[in-house]
Amino acid sequence: MSQGLLVSAYLISALLFVMSLAGLSRQESAKTGSLYGMVGMAVAVLATLGHAATEGLTLITLLMMAGAAIGLYLAKKVEMTEMPQLVAILNGFGGLAAVLIGFSSAIEAINLRAAPIVGKFIVELSPTEQLIHSIEIFIGIIIGAITFSGSVVACLKLNGSINSRPASLPGGHWANLAVIAAAILMGVVYVQQDSILALVVMTALAFVFGITLVMGIGGADMPVVVSMLNAYSGIAAAATGFMLGNNLLIITGAMVGSSGAILSYLMCAAMNRSFISVILGGFGTESGTVVSDGEQGEHVEINVEDTAELLKNASSVIITPGYGMAVAQAQHPLRELVNKLRAQNIKVRFGIHPVAGRLPGHMNVLLAEAKVPYDIVEEMDELNDDFTETDVVLVIGANDTVNPAASEDPGSPIAGMPVLKVWEAARVVVFKRSMATGYAGVQNPLFFKENARMLFGDAHDTVEGILKQF
Ligand code: NDP
Repeated sequence: MSQGLLVSAYLISALLFVMSLAGLSRQESAKTGSLYGMVGMAVAVLATLGHAATEGLTLITLLMMAGAAIGLYLAKKVEMTEMPQLVAILNGFGGLAAVLIGFSSAIEAINLRAAPIVGKFIVELSPTEQLIHSIEIFIGIIIGAITFSGSVVACLKLNGSINSRPASLPGGHWANLAVIAAAILMGVVYVQQDSILALVVMTALAFVFGITLVMGIGGADMPVVVSMLNAYSGIAAAATGFMLGNNLLIITGAMVGSSGAILSYLMCAAMNRSFISVILGGFGTESGTVVSDGEQGEHVEINVEDTAELLKNASSVIITPGYGMAVAQAQHPLRELVNKLRAQNIKVRFGIHPVAGRLPGHMNVLLAEAKVPYDIVEEMDELNDDFTETDVVLVIGANDTVNPAASEDPGSPIAGMPVLKVWEAARVVVFKRSMATGYAGVQNPLFFKENARMLFGDAHDTVEGILKQF
């Protein structure tokens, strides 16, 4: 394939990626958006493979087949509840790829300068261009390494292999700052002296920084971390694009980097956190270390029969799902319950907190999968003032996202995070299995409020039980 055809194919891919992002921004068009993305990627891969300058086709094809097989296996095997870990580790692989490509470019550049081969890219570069190339390598590797090790820690925190509470190096932010400053210094030494040793030390320090950065971030703030790492992987990819002189990689990396950064910013706004402190990795540590999980009074239980009775006598109901709905896969019986209530002219809506579940949009995906109509699924801001006029709220496996301590207790790790004000309704029924805390590890005063009732059991079973009463 000629250079002209390759550029045209890349242009088509870039357009398809833009259309994909636009499609993914609304539930109704998300499927088409995904399709555009897949076609765009297929065009990009085929064009790259077909280009005359691509060498080692057999090896690339074999490796791609192995990668595709692993990807297919993971996509089939992974549970919806394990998606965030998968997203985190995939971001990490993007970072690791940037590190490996960076090293390969650095070694190639040094070898070519020692023994130039006419016609090779690097020999045609002027000293200034060579300097820029070294800086691209430095940026790609440092961000890639931070993304990789940070993503591994995020993945381990999300799947519970390591404690989700914030843990800092002795010296806290200053120690982190010293590590990253040393890494940047090594990067500068590499750029000035072409020293691979300096590059290796820089990479090791960047790996350490990625670990300490994410270790310092508390569980309740993990959604922002995942999207932030996603943005970092985009920036690493864009830097790789500059290293390889590949325009499509630059465009795609820039899109991933900027959309990840915008998502992180929006999530920070939704959680009333400072974007800058997230970027610096100190997010949530100041208030996040005091964790209270003791019981705060008497809770009152309710059974499925009485819950069904409450619902039959209600005229307005709001359902606020959380991570527990995903664990129980309760969205399907819930949709049936919604149908039954609506058939009795009861107004039913879903209230979605921006960080409910374990990844952005988690609840929306599950409700869409169960074919819950989009027009009754509302965002927190749309219905948060309506709880005062609501008869019954069903809290299905949600905890942190409905915790009044966020607004009432300034010492709480989730203080300041906007939450669904479910306690303002006439009656709240909380579906969960025990009095255990949510992801942030804090007890929830909602459970002890006068108008709250606890319905214990797996949410799938309890919703099924209520359905039988209709
Ligand atoms: P939480 O993690 O706060 O609470 C989930 C609740 O579900 C628990 O109280 C648990 O109680 C209950 N539960 C679990 N399994 C079942 C089951 N089978 N049946 C019934 N109940 C069940 O979830 P929220 O969605 O309210 O809050 C999300 C939290 O996760 C926030 O802290 C958020 O910051 C964090 N987070 C969000 C991410 C995102 O992008 N959305 C990513 C990573 C973290 P019990 O064990 O007693 O049943």
